[in-house]
Amino acid sequence: MLVVFDEAKRFDLAVPVVIVGAGACGLVAALAAKDAGAEVLVLERDRTPSGSTALSSGFIPAASTRFQRAAGVVDSPEQFAADVLRKNHGEADPRMVGAICRASGRTIEWLADRCGIPFVLVEGFLYPGHTALRMHAVSEKTGRAFMAALNEACSRAGIDILCEAQVTSLHADSNRRVRGVSFSRRGEAIEDVGCNALVLACSGFGGNPDMVKRHIPELAGVDYFGHTGNQGDGVAWGEALGAAVADMTAYQGHGSVATPHGILITWALMMEGGIQVNALGERFSNEHEGYSEQCVNVLAQPGRVAWNIYDERLHRLGLEFPDYRDAVAAGAIKSAPNLELLASQTGLPVEGLKKTVQWSTDLAAGKASDAFGRDFSAKPPLQPPYYAVKVTGSLFHTQGGLIVNEEARVCDARWVPFPNLFAGGGAARGISGAHVWGYLSGNGLLSAVSLGWISGRASARLALDNSHSSFG
Ligand SMILES: Cc1cc2nc3c(=O)[nH]c(=O)nc-3n(C[C@H](O)[C@H](O)[C@H](O)COP(=O)(O)OP(=O)(O)OC[C@H]3O[C@@H](n4cnc5c(N)ncnc54)[C@H](O)[C@@H]3O)c2cc1C
Repeated sequence: MLVVFDEAKRFDLAVPVVIVGAGACGLVAALAAKDAGAEVLVLERDRTPSGSTALSSGFIPAASTRFQRAAGVVDSPEQFAADVLRKNHGEADPRMVGAICRASGRTIEWLADRCGIPFVLVEGFLYPGHTALRMHAVSEKTGRAFMAALNEACSRAGIDILCEAQVTSLHADSNRRVRGVSFSRRGEAIEDVGCNALVLACSGFGGNPDMVKRHIPELAGVDYFGHTGNQGDGVAWGEALGAAVADMTAYQGHGSVATPHGILITWALMMEGGIQVNALGERFSNEHEGYSEQCVNVLAQPGRVAWNIYDERLHRLGLEFPDYRDAVAAGAIKSAPNLELLASQTGLPVEGLKKTVQWSTDLAAGKASDAFGRDFSAKPPLQPPYYAVKVTGSLFHTQGGLIVNEEARVCDARWVPFPNLFAGGGAARGISGAHVWGYLSGNGLLSAVSLGWISGRASARLALDNSHSSFG
């Protein structure tokens, strides 16, 4: 039973705010709720908190931060929101885009100043669709290090995170007020905990092949690169309660995962001058549209693969990224002093490859215009020695989910909020519209972190207002 409607059930243990899932959204929500004065319990199905957040690059976009100002970057929440909406062709809900972009800078500064997360501004290149440098990360530039910093902050704040605790069902009354949850410890005993407010931070459904097939048939059977524990539980509970979902067809794909190694190759290589060719040595798209939709473009090529072609300058840029260094160590990166030798190393047809690289040089020199619409003029042409890595497309995370309002409160189809149910991150509807091309780089952690902060504060307010009510 996903939701048990039971007015009479008594809970031996009750906590004002219960949070399901200990990824970025759950831990930021926990820190925010605790900071607002509420006691919190986080329930996490895994042995240690990690989620897709730990697998990610940990780049979080945020506007109007002191980190940007220190680097002389001019930005605003409005400019950021305009970038988000331009990327998804206005498909996303503008109110939610505005609320999330407005919260983004405050959340990053609060995480840095109040919770001790050591952010830096990621400089050196712009991700597709962003008009200002606004990616923030911890200095290691990995999601794992970001998660470690969040965990340490939670431990400093005295937040209880109960691991190996998989939430199995919600308990609600006839007014759709959540009274508590049941969870299974190590797949065995079922325990219950009551709450005044519940935050669903258990992400999307990328780890559930049946749901992926139902909602995103174009990706059925495609490799999933995110956290397999994300089974769509939040969506299932919400729907069982009568909540509305939207944009279930949306997702973040990626068109640059080294194959067969399964290592993310940074898209900075493409943004700074690299190109993608297929097995015929031909370009097939505008690489600057975005890495998410490139997943579909790459999978449409012969053998469902492509080759990233770049040079020594870009190789050095790549070495700034831990994933890329892993790819070098794994032997995924090929290099050669000229295109003939690169062709023999990669199996690409030499004439096709030479023609395509020469064409990109002509485009960089302004001698022609690109049939796919990419502007090559701002970056230097590729020069020997050359580099190549074979890549394929993958699903990173799903973007559809429960409809929430500006307070991260879960709503029904008429936008009526549920009394005490909140959602954020992958569990909530994202801000990428309904298509793969609507994903602006960073929309994933942006929603996780900003809605985590919003839901943590709002759930604490509600739980404290209702603190007179008995949980049992
Ligand atoms: C390789 C890769 C790179 C990425 N890079 C970036 C990036 O640089 N920037 C960006 O913005 N986005 C990036 N993303 C996307 C980003 O990782 C996600 O959008 C984000 O981590 C979602 O955060 P979350 O807290 O909602 O989910 P998660 O971090 O996945 O956390 C959800 C947690 O809920 C737990 N859980 C699930 N069900 C239950 C249950 N029933 N009971 C208890 N616990 C449960 C899970 O075990 C998990 O720990 C990347 C994704 C991938 C895969």
